Amino acid sequence: MSLLNHTATELLAKLESREVSSAELTAAYLKQIETLDPQVQAYLRVLPESALAKAKEIDARRAAGQPVGKLGGLPVAIKDVICTQGEVTTCASKMLETFVPPYNATVVEKLRAADAVLIGKTNMDEFAMGGSTENSAFQATKNPWNLECIPGGSSGGAAACLAASMAPLSVGTDTGGSIRQPAALCGVTGMKPTYGRVSRYGLVAFASSLDQIGPLAHTVEDAALLLAVLAGHDPLDSTSADVEVPDYRAALSQPLKGLKIGVIKEHFGEGLDNEIAAAVQAAVQEYEKLGATAKEISLPHSKYGIATYYIIAPCEASSNLARYDGVHYGYRTDEKAMLAELDAERAALVKAGQQQEADNLDTPLVRLYRQSRAEGFGPEVKRRIMLGTYALSAGYYDAYYLKALKVRRLIRQDYDHAFKEVDVILGPTTPTPAFKMGEKLNDPLAMYLEDLYTVTANLAGVGGISIPCGFTKSNLPIGLQIQAPAFAEAKCLQAAHLFQQATDWHNRRAKLQ
Ligand code: GLN
Repeated sequence: MSLLNHTATELLAKLESREVSSAELTAAYLKQIETLDPQVQAYLRVLPESALAKAKEIDARRAAGQPVGKLGGLPVAIKDVICTQGEVTTCASKMLETFVPPYNATVVEKLRAADAVLIGKTNMDEFAMGGSTENSAFQATKNPWNLECIPGGSSGGAAACLAASMAPLSVGTDTGGSIRQPAALCGVTGMKPTYGRVSRYGLVAFASSLDQIGPLAHTVEDAALLLAVLAGHDPLDSTSADVEVPDYRAALSQPLKGLKIGVIKEHFGEGLDNEIAAAVQAAVQEYEKLGATAKEISLPHSKYGIATYYIIAPCEASSNLARYDGVHYGYRTDEKAMLAELDAERAALVKAGQQQEADNLDTPLVRLYRQSRAEGFGPEVKRRIMLGTYALSAGYYDAYYLKALKVRRLIRQDYDHAFKEVDVILGPTTPTPAFKMGEKLNDPLAMYLEDLYTVTANLAGVGGISIPCGFTKSNLPIGLQIQAPAFAEAKCLQAAHLFQQATDWHNRRAKLQ
């Protein structure tokens, strides 16, 4: 079996027993990236020199009998929305095309301290806005199971690099489903932890009350390994929670007696693909065979999830993205050309006797903001800024933003009620399997509906995981979503691990050459 078909946990054992060195492993992944990434385009940047140097340094330490961190020389890919000191971090936006962060995100510091080898930065929808990775300003990532299909988004690169065996572990972010949805569509495991579980210091903000960093991996065991490194309180992030981090891997070996699962009634309604419905029902039966009890539960306000999310997320985005003004930060339009154009416009108006119009032209500073933002942001980001600015404006604030906050509270209460009756809740991760590239690009509403089952976890702040639970007739992966109460990641991982021990969907890899 090729080295690259192993799980991260298996590879870690090989590293620890010195059957393979980190340098060999890193070189093998770099080779795979060189071979396959021209087709998949999961990476925006690969970091061969620094990765190999770090790998060799870890190998030398291990050979000298010195301590090595928890990730022991495993390569890890990072979504390009997470700041890496001295390495360009673009958020897949022209706005940040040349941005080199002067500091590391806390998760990057933690990965380095755990002796992970940062192998590259992965592609995404611009500023994490999207569900197909087609909104990247630089390239569209393909689904390794079918190169004509999208990999999901916004962490499409993070999921596709795993599905094509171009990394054993990767780090993504999830504001409304961006870890779980691409994990489902690429046939890998992806977890959004509870809001506050993982520090967001150094994560470029999209919607601050929803954003969360989390692991993507081949198996639940691997995700637990990575989450253990990422999780924990951080004084640099005031929203990170000071809640003890359990030993996730140890939790997996604990027996799971009397697991009570709730099957979400509302997630089997209109819009759900038949093959996905059947695979998820089969998964529920599998759980019953494994000794769990299943009952139907209701999240009555989940039908307002999309509407609520697509008010709150754009509102927060419009505020967060105000910092990109061409002056303080990021892309700036060609000032000379801009000033010349403004002068020419003024001269033409004056010449035509339209003095008042000439006086009403933008000041140079306003034109600089306007033009830098017009050129630096892509269409979806602009759409979100406009939606958010509108919903927050004086006349509409109460009707939209405030109303959405109230519904958000009701959604949270639905979860509270459900978790009084069951330990975890189950349903499909996505309403459809991976769709063709371009299919929903010009239909934002259709794209937003892809987030039907994932946004409520972000709105409620709870955690959720997506694991593979089948394939469609056209061989596209299907994801099962398991959600657990806030800070009950161990329970969520345990329940997901139980399924993976009895099934082998997660062992399948896309065959690309
Ligand atoms: N697809 C959702 C959106 O476009 C979720 C994105 C995310 O989780 N970052 O907002």
